[in-house]
Amino acid sequence: MSAHNRKSVVQMMAAESRSRHEERPVASIQLPEQFGAHVFNDRVQRQRLPKPVYGALRRTIEKGEELDPEIADIVANAMKDWALEHGASHFTHWFQPMTGLTAEKHDSFLTPTADGRGLMEFSGKELIKGEPDASSFPSGGIRATFEARGYTAWDPTSPAFLRKTARGATMFIPTAFCSWTGEALDQKTPLLRSTQALSVHAVRLLRLLGESNVTRVVTTLGCEQEYFLVDRRFYYARPDLVATGRTLMGARPPKGQELEDHYFGTISERVIAYMQDLEQELWRLGIPARTRHNEVAPGQYELAPVFEEASVAADHNMLTMEVMKSVAERHGFACLLHEKPFAGVNGSGKHNNWSMSDNLGNNLLEPGHTPRENLKFMVFLAAIIRAVDLHQDLLRASVAHAGNDHRLGANEAPPAIISIYVGSQLENIIRALIDGTAPAKKGAEKMQLGVTTLPPLPRDQSDRNRTSPFAFTGNKFEFRAVGSSQAVAHPNTLLNTIVAESLDHLACEIEKRAGAGDRREVIDGLIKELLTSHQRILFNGDNYSEEWVNEAERRGLLNLRDTPSALARFAADKNVKLFEKYAVFTPRETNSRSNVAFHTYTHRLNVEAQSAKSLAATMVLPAAFAHQEKLARSIQSAQQILPRLDLKAQIECLELVSKSINALKRALDQLEQARALAEGHHGTPEGHAAIFRDQVMPAMAELRSQADLLEGQIADDLWPLPKYREMLFLS
Ligand code: ADP
Ligand code: MG
Repeated sequence: MSAHNRKSVVQMMAAESRSRHEERPVASIQLPEQFGAHVFNDRVQRQRLPKPVYGALRRTIEKGEELDPEIADIVANAMKDWALEHGASHFTHWFQPMTGLTAEKHDSFLTPTADGRGLMEFSGKELIKGEPDASSFPSGGIRATFEARGYTAWDPTSPAFLRKTARGATMFIPTAFCSWTGEALDQKTPLLRSTQALSVHAVRLLRLLGESNVTRVVTTLGCEQEYFLVDRRFYYARPDLVATGRTLMGARPPKGQELEDHYFGTISERVIAYMQDLEQELWRLGIPARTRHNEVAPGQYELAPVFEEASVAADHNMLTMEVMKSVAERHGFACLLHEKPFAGVNGSGKHNNWSMSDNLGNNLLEPGHTPRENLKFMVFLAAIIRAVDLHQDLLRASVAHAGNDHRLGANEAPPAIISIYVGSQLENIIRALIDGTAPAKKGAEKMQLGVTTLPPLPRDQSDRNRTSPFAFTGNKFEFRAVGSSQAVAHPNTLLNTIVAESLDHLACEIEKRAGAGDRREVIDGLIKELLTSHQRILFNGDNYSEEWVNEAERRGLLNLRDTPSALARFAADKNVKLFEKYAVFTPRETNSRSNVAFHTYTHRLNVEAQSAKSLAATMVLPAAFAHQEKLARSIQSAQQILPRLDLKAQIECLELVSKSINALKRALDQLEQARALAEGHHGTPEGHAAIFRDQVMPAMAELRSQADLLEGQIADDLWPLPKYREMLFLS
């Protein structure tokens, strides 16, 4: 976009704002019927499948029983009929490779017959197994030593759905993706494995607590998704946004988020029209979108769904991100999911609300009314506290990627130090348990000593701490360090695994010690022991403060400040063994994931460096030269006409711009040197990532600061890039 075009976009937008927003009205009465209309869900399954087949399928979905392959043909046929009635011509296995995105390859139902007709066919075999050419998906080395073949395997626990366009529809079948040796090449398989591990040990523990009716435990997940919207024309005029998802330069606008007038503010008409369209599409896909609001930064918004079983919620979040982007296109927006699209205003996260629920529907993190319920609550709470303390490294690594480095520890969002917030009331109780004293009395509540006699805990925690990376919020934990663009399967896999290990540990200890006396006493003692030895991970104060950084260091907590440091821990011996023990990753899979994560980091930064370079060389510098020339000419003409006038100030302007041009050019050369150094590196992935962090990143920052200085000097009509004030405040 030329500078001239940039101006005309702004004028066009102003003119358009009068004529748009003519969305068709929504008949709310139809909404319940619309919900899940494009999903092959329980209701449709019951209607369309023979009773025994339906029963077998539901047992797989609800109880985790193995699926009888015999029924696949019947299910496939019913799915095909349903899809055809909805206008589908194609089906696709839909999976989550280690790219952080989803993948699909469509096949049509249409099959030619010998006599030249066409039949619509879909077999059980096609439903159960797909064979995409997997050679171009990241494998982190797994496939280098084996064949390139990959398989997708139907995941019946996540329902098939239709994606429609004006021209037709495609049936999407959620699947897991693995190599022909059965090694996971995706995000979903490990998530399902970790849920299974967690279930086994949670059930064991519940049995020890006297809950004999529980047969299965699942994790529940609700992802609050933050995002930015910018006008699509601005987006296309910013090569950095298109290539990297974030702006690599751009001076701060005169008005930022300081006034805090955006958060929960009135939603503009154009944005609400987008949100309404988005929600209706999500509802038809069975995604329970619930909450919408303006977020802290200008141009930033949030969507939160009602929580669901984690693997379905993870699929739904992937789908939500895709639908967000495609609906944005229809509304002339670009939806930005990057963690930090704009410097100087808040970035975007994805609060990962997580809990555990038994097969009877009881939330295991719901503080109870009776001593027995409270005992259960305290046992699970203690297990989580232990897990997070022992495996801070894994939680940190689970959210480590280039985009998130701009949030974590960068003076906003949660810090890079992992700690747990439990709120002051729960902290009081924990303190009292550790010290063996009565909890400080609050209000008229009767509190007595000891775990088994804990009073009902308040369900509504009023004292919320927004700075904590891992906060207990009444009946769930909110892992706030997850990045907005991330596939949530991975952080939840790691979270499930460390909690599974802790539940296993508790169950073993109780079994071991129970012979020695009263089980209640054993459990009370164990809780006290765990809380005592892991209390350093609890922190209720301001996580953004400098004091916390020092205090955390005194406590011996990890502070893994950036992606390379955090990733370096992922494949540590302790973790390789942990993943192997709970059958979440084989050692080869752990290593492959580590390789992929490092590679993704260096690749992202390399693209950013090249994009910054090209922006500076081909857009900023030419604009600066044009401005410099204009100034020079202007001074020259002034001198001719007014030879006696003092032109010192004008000459200073010229000097200033010329100096800035010099500095920009030097920064550009520096960046190229750093990038060449990184490109020439042939050592370990860690070493490679470190060069990008220590050389390339600072060079990019310097280039940016020079470009931003020039933005403040160059005539507005010569500046070629949409400015922050335009992108963030015009919609
Ligand atoms: P906030 O105040 O952080 O915005 P909300 O009450 O709006 O929190 O809830 C945030 C998310 O937590 C929602 O997606 C909600 O469905 C989810 N959530 C609530 N209970 C649970 C639970 N037991 N397990 C998982 N997620 C839950
Ligand atoms: Mg929240």
